[in-house]
Amino acid sequence: MSDQSSHNSQVLVLMCMDFRFHEQVVEQLKLRGIKTFDLKADAGAVKYLISSEKPAVRDWILENIEIARRLHHINAVILINHLDCGAYGGSASFQSKSEELKFHTEQLKQAKMIVGASFPDLKVGIMFAWLEDGQVTLKEL
Ligand SMILES: [Zn+2]
Repeated sequence: MSDQSSHNSQVLVLMCMDFRFHEQVVEQLKLRGIKTFDLKADAGAVKYLISSEKPAVRDWILENIEIARRLHHINAVILINHLDCGAYGGSASFQSKSEELKFHTEQLKQAKMIVGASFPDLKVGIMFAWLEDGQVTLKEL
């Protein structure tokens, strides 16, 4: 018996490849009702989506969103950056946690605009994660 809904993930999540976050981010998304989703994990999450440094990476991320839309009929994308991300040089590259949070918020807002411009029919959510005493916190921005 075919179950069409099992083939509709509804959401694609783009997050960093950093292993410290995966398990708990998945748990926390489930708690928010996002039980199944396509996952694209890349160093720096949205970093190369918005920088002109690696246009091929940006194109590939956008192509993955298109593939998820075509195959799994997603209606939303969630972009998740995190504190102390090695792709951005880690927390050491920032003067303070608040400066780091502000920077990532800007990155995520820019990424949201890029995804929104390419896929006006998709909802785009942005979230920020950090790790403290082994516990991941996931915050909607
Ligand atoms: Zn990272």
